[in-house]
Order: sequence, then C-alpha cells, then structure tokens
Amino acid sequence: MSDLEQRARDLDAADGLAAHRAKFALEDGAVYLDGNSLGALPAHVPARMADVITREWGELRIRSWGESGWWTAPERIGDRIAPIVGAAPGRIVVGDSTSVNVFKAVVAAARLAGGGRDEILVDATTFPTDGYIAASAARMTGHTLVPLDPADMADAVSDRTALALVNHVDYRTGRLQDLPGITAALHAAGALAVWDLCHSAGALPVGLDAHGVDLAVGCTYKYLNGGPGSPAYLYVAERHQGAFDSPLPGWNSHADPFGMTSGYEAADGALRGRVGTPDILSMLALESALDVWDGVAIEDVRAKSLALTDFFLECVAAYVPEGAVASVTPAEHGERGSQVALSCANAPAVMDELIRRGVVGDLRRPDILRFGFTPLYVGFADAERAARTLAEVLAETAR
Ligand SMILES: *Cc1c(COP(=O)(O)O)cnc(C)c1O
Repeated sequence: MSDLEQRARDLDAADGLAAHRAKFALEDGAVYLDGNSLGALPAHVPARMADVITREWGELRIRSWGESGWWTAPERIGDRIAPIVGAAPGRIVVGDSTSVNVFKAVVAAARLAGGGRDEILVDATTFPTDGYIAASAARMTGHTLVPLDPADMADAVSDRTALALVNHVDYRTGRLQDLPGITAALHAAGALAVWDLCHSAGALPVGLDAHGVDLAVGCTYKYLNGGPGSPAYLYVAERHQGAFDSPLPGWNSHADPFGMTSGYEAADGALRGRVGTPDILSMLALESALDVWDGVAIEDVRAKSLALTDFFLECVAAYVPEGAVASVTPAEHGERGSQVALSCANAPAVMDELIRRGVVGDLRRPDILRFGFTPLYVGFADAERAARTLAEVLAETAR
C-alpha cells in the first residue's frame, strides 16, 4: 500500500462525517464524484415515496392536500433548507426550476430597486441559463445587461446599477466568489444582490441572513440530493417581503387562493414566490432526502470538503505526470467551492474511461474534467482512487 493510500485510510478513520455514507444508496467501492450534478439517492427515500404514492395519493387522494400537508409543502420544505444556507424560517419557498426562480428574482429585484437605475450586472461566466434568463428579464424591464467577471463587480457598481446576479460558486472552475464583499459593495451603491447558490448550498456555509443578501435562488438536486429535477427554491430577505412583487403572481401566491377572486392580492412572506400547483412527488422526495442533514453542521461539511479537495489535488500532483493536467480551481481555500476542475487534453475520452473504471466525474466541454466532492458520502479513499485511476488512464491514453 502506498503512503497516500495509507493516509487516505487514516483520514477516513478519523472523519467524523464518514458514518453518513451509510445513509445513501451507494454500492461498495463506488467512487461518485458527480454529486454536484445529481446528488446520490438517500437510502430511505424509496420507502417514503412508496407511501406517498400508494397511501397519500392512492388512498387519501384529494384529502392529502390538507391531511398529508401537500398544500403547505413549499414553505415547510423551505424552512428545512433555511438552516443549511443560513436563513431564518419564513424566508425560503420551494418550487419551480432554478431557471424560473432566476426570472422571478431578477424581475422582482429590478422592481425593488425602483426607477432611475437602468443596469443589471450579471456574472459573465455564469451557468448559461442564468445569463439567458437575465437577458430576457432585462429586455422586459427595460434594463441594460452588463456581463462582468464577478471580481470586477465591486468596482463596476454605480448609481445606475439596479442589481447584480452572481453565482456563489462557478460551475466550471469551482471558484467561490466573495459573497459578503460583493453584497456589501452593491449595497453601498444602493443596488440589490441576487445570488445563485446552486453549487454552494449543502457544500459550504452561505450565511444569507448574516450577509444581508437580498434575494437568492438555488437548485436542490446537486448537494441537497433532492433527486432528478427536484424543485428549486427562492429566498426573499425579510425586509423585502412586503414589497416583493413577483412577475409570476399565480394563484398559489394569493392571500386567499381558494377565494378564487378575479383580483390579485399577494400573500404575506416568502410564499409570494409561489406560482402554481407544486410538483408534489418531486417535492416530497426532496423533503424526505433532507433528513440526511439532521444533526449535520454545515461548518463540518465545509471543513471536510476542503480537506478532500486538498487531498485530491495532492494525490493528482503525486500520481499524474507533470503537465498532463492543470487545475483551474483556485488553490486558496477562501476561493474554492467543493469541486476540483482539471483541464486536460482529450478530456472527453479520459472522462469516458474514468467512468468505465468506476470513477464517476463529469465533463465540461471542451477540456474540463470536473470532480465534485460531497462530504456526506465521499471519503478520502475515494479521492485517492480517483487520482490514481486518472493517472492510469492518462498514462494509457498517452501511449
Ligand atoms: C445547476 C444550475 C442551474 C440549473 O437550472 P435548472 O433550471 O434547474 O435547470 C442553474 N444555475 C446554476 C448556476 C446551476 O449550477
């Protein structure tokens, strides 16, 4: 056994989060480093979903909207996500996709910012959907979209800025942006901060309330393990809830939805972010999946995430010939999310072969190998094996 294999064993033995792996349906030896695309299935969810389908839907039918708590699921599940992202209860509502919530948040923030501010700043390297939606929202609200590197936002913000839409962690490089600093710079200029938490929620502390974030969105099928297409969420800071004016004011956000009145009157609180009938099956799978967070401190998750990504980078440096890959993920802890992205020649063929050998990461074309580290079910031996397998694949494809 090599030194690194022995170190991995020792680190796993000392890891206080290691026991959580048993909560997931993962076969022995599976090295799953794609939980930042689709989180693994928590093992108890299938039984819960069988009950939802056979009893709540099959037997109780329409009664379940009340008796099984279906109607209030969006805000109830929002309150389960809240502590993971540093929000008090009543500030998060679950529903729709991230893309749809980006639309709600950008338009609502532009309305909150008021007239006289005609620019929307957007992260230029953003996950494409955020950019597409922001561009359309800007067109509708009469704002000019200004794409920028998030590092330049604090300098670019002015009295023309209505809001900025920024990704907390860049999905390609894994770079962690300075949420407190950028939010403070926006506020100093009277602008609003809208954060996309897709790649940070469940991986590191976010501190939405503590840092005074205005609005935020995120998905639940990555680090929160909610399942394929599980609904996203929208955070509205308490101080904005009274004035939050949704561009999609569906009947689910009405103060009296069953009054079925022709005039719209917004409900109080974050549930103003609701639109139409929630996708209950996906929503209840998410709710059940969130049980794995009971008793877990996000600070411990962050500490392990940094230790895992450090160790993976160390193993890559030890095993992979100099120059065969280059990390595009920042080495500084303060600038790193919970993934390592390596640029590499022939990246598509390399990732295919890694997956064939049981090390599942993903590819971001043209040349990025992406490895996501989900501390609840990834261990140090997984990181070591992934780096060792990568070195073997590179040695063979170079031949
Ligand atoms: C994953 C991700 C999305 C996904 O949006 P959907 O509407 O759920 O498809 C959006 N934005 C970012 C930054 C993401 O990482």
